[in-house]
Amino acid sequence: MSAPPELKPCPLCGATVACVISNKDIDYDLSNEMFAACCNATNKGCGTHTGWQETIAEATDAWNTRAESAELTRLRAELAEAMNLLSRAADALEMSYDAQEWPANGESSQEKVAAEIRATLDRKGEKE
Ligand SMILES: [Zn+2]
Repeated sequence: MSAPPELKPCPLCGATVACVISNKDIDYDLSNEMFAACCNATNKGCGTHTGWQETIAEATDAWNTRAESAELTRLRAELAEAMNLLSRAADALEMSYDAQEWPANGESSQEKVAAEIRATLDRKGEKE
């Protein structure tokens, strides 16, 4: 078993224990050696794997181009949205120390961002 450093984290469980195995690791008498990349189940991985490939490079490519789960894609999008809101909230807090930045209509940047955060949280609460 080898562990090339270029293997991406597992697209299913996110573990960073992927490795390339040879079919000879499983059956010593095979004449045609093949390789598969897998999420190392003997090291807290989930055990998912690619199909058998002819070379280590092909097994690595097959692993690194796997699509991630729909749940992981959704969670990444939600995290990006939350990070964006936090960044904007931090910006608004910084501006609050500068009286020049307060808008003339009386609604502060903090109030706008806080309302946006509350609306986003309400939307997420309705989905669940
Ligand atoms: Zn995994």
